[in-house]
Amino acid sequence: MTQESTGPAYKIIDHTYDTVVVGAGGSGLRATMGSAEAGLKTACITKVFPTRSHTVAAQGGIAASLKNNTPDHWTWHMYDTVKGSDWLGDQDAIEYMVREAPDAILELEHAGVPFSRNEDGTIYQRPFGGHMQNMGEGPPVQRTCAAADRTGHALLHALYQQSLKYAADFYIEYFAIDLIMENGKCVGVIALCLDDGSIHRFRSQAVVLATGGYGRSYFTATSAHTCTGDGGGMVLRAGLCLQDMEFVQFHPTGIYGAGVLITEGARGEGGYLTNSEGERFMERYAPSAKDLASRDVVSRSMALEIREGRGVGPNKDHIYLHLDHIDPKVLAQRLPGITESGKIFAGVDLTRQPLPVVPTVHYNMGGIPTNYHGEVMTIGADGNPETVVPGLFAVGEAACVSVHGANRLGSNSLTDLVVFGRATGHRLKEIVKPGAKQPELPKDSADLALTRLDHFRYADGGTPTAAIRKEMQQNMSAHAAVFRTDELMAEGKAAIAETYKKMQDVKVSDRGLIWNSDLIETMELDNLIGQATVTLHGAHARKESRGAHAHEDFPDRDDANWMKHTVGWFNGWGGKGGEVRLDYRPVHEYTLTDDAQYIKPKKRVY
Ligand SMILES: Cc1cc2nc3c(=O)[nH]c(=O)nc-3n(C[C@H](O)[C@H](O)[C@H](O)COP(=O)(O)OP(=O)(O)OC[C@H]3O[C@@H](n4cnc5c(N)ncnc54)[C@H](O)[C@@H]3O)c2cc1C
Repeated sequence: MTQESTGPAYKIIDHTYDTVVVGAGGSGLRATMGSAEAGLKTACITKVFPTRSHTVAAQGGIAASLKNNTPDHWTWHMYDTVKGSDWLGDQDAIEYMVREAPDAILELEHAGVPFSRNEDGTIYQRPFGGHMQNMGEGPPVQRTCAAADRTGHALLHALYQQSLKYAADFYIEYFAIDLIMENGKCVGVIALCLDDGSIHRFRSQAVVLATGGYGRSYFTATSAHTCTGDGGGMVLRAGLCLQDMEFVQFHPTGIYGAGVLITEGARGEGGYLTNSEGERFMERYAPSAKDLASRDVVSRSMALEIREGRGVGPNKDHIYLHLDHIDPKVLAQRLPGITESGKIFAGVDLTRQPLPVVPTVHYNMGGIPTNYHGEVMTIGADGNPETVVPGLFAVGEAACVSVHGANRLGSNSLTDLVVFGRATGHRLKEIVKPGAKQPELPKDSADLALTRLDHFRYADGGTPTAAIRKEMQQNMSAHAAVFRTDELMAEGKAAIAETYKKMQDVKVSDRGLIWNSDLIETMELDNLIGQATVTLHGAHARKESRGAHAHEDFPDRDDANWMKHTVGWFNGWGGKGGEVRLDYRPVHEYTLTDDAQYIKPKKRVY
């Protein structure tokens, strides 16, 4: 069917669904499966084949207090997550996640995820950074459920198969451009089919954004090149805010030079870091957790060792990770993937040599603010600090619920994906009526998406997309890194504004619509750069150090003034506008039920 639009002339193909999920990573597939299982007519739109989503690269595992290998309790998991978040996480959402996690894992097991096994047949669990026994007082807990070091791969395949079983429709290699909003409500989404260039308008009762993180705003990142935060870009253009964007996680062990990840599971299985003097320096920075302290702590310690001249290599600019003392049989069984990565990307035989590693951008704690049902929140409307945006949900790394606060614990992201993907399915079942008649979409529903598409398709400036992207990435890597100063961040803000303006002069060479990667990368860059800008503004405004935000001019956490979430808006696209507005909302200092106790802030030591 062809429907009218008041924007540029493109033929539009219309679809109607109860639920449309954008994204087929772990979170999108879990939400798709939940929605379809609830009897809702469900579509899942994805720009890459589902099992190629970045979740496929997750290695180490997924945290839940199953107590298979050591004693554990959900309250211990809650304590570790709150402490890991440096008290920026919302404790109601954290309680929900850790209590639901064991059930969500057993569901995955029954759905076909081939977890590694203990002798007695239970799921194998390994230690991970920041996960301890007995409310932080005991030794490391074994909480991270693993399928060797290919957990994400196993998870994604099982969830894709389940979604197909419940008859969800997949639109594979479709690029979602923009949301359709009507009077503050989300009523659908516009997408481009990459294969034949056709434009698709999806009308739906609910849209779930599961588009992943925006790691590619930095020059080196462990995330895939497709991690361009498209959902965050759509949300900003819809006039909605993003939350806590200044908190960007650096993973301690990216392979030096390549950025490829070496899972924290490597240290969980006994790996350790050394400096140029051969010293196990983590013993100095985190006397009890050592190499298994949380990621922000380990990354900062490595950066300090390098800064003080104790880095390894000719330029003294990286650190060694040792696994050469571990039985090769254990490596082959539990860490086969990284053994291979070491060989390919560093030319190192892990059984005999140390691996060169460096802290590398890995995860976005910030994102689209939601409650623990996955419903997107807007902040500050009508004097109400938190209002649900009707029809719009967000899950996974694209969202900020916020369980990770200022720093995510390793293996808590996969938990977040499946727990809140599932919670979204539950909520959809409650509020969406299967097959309910939906009102006609407004005539201008495709205008924003098609105007942007048409604008970039014919963009005839003098600067190639790749040049602007590189400038943004280098700026982020220089001005919003592991350590930050007032001066650096002010410089970064000014520089990103200049880079953003260059989008007015962007040059796209391919005018076609079929597999036009030049055009798609330009729209992705447009999504990235707004979020990069909000990240720098949020970071510069936050005058304290908390979790991943290490401010050298304000080295201490300041709970009196800064125990609050940043929310930020960005107006404009394509180099026009570009103003940022910041505001704040309180952290939820309460639990969901009386079974849990609010965990009061205290100094964070490992
Ligand atoms: C190398 C690596 C290892 C990791 N290991 C672990 C681990 O062991 N444990 C852990 O807990 N966490 C781990 N993480 C973090 C975790 O894997 C990610 O946070 C998580 O997988 C993100 O899942 P997601 O569902 O939010 O999005 P993704 O898996 O990134 O998927 C995004 C989806 O959105 C789609 N999409 C995006 N934009 C558009 C658009 N415009 N139109 C249509 N579709 C779109 C994509 O096609 C894709 O399907 C790791 C991360 C990395 C990078």
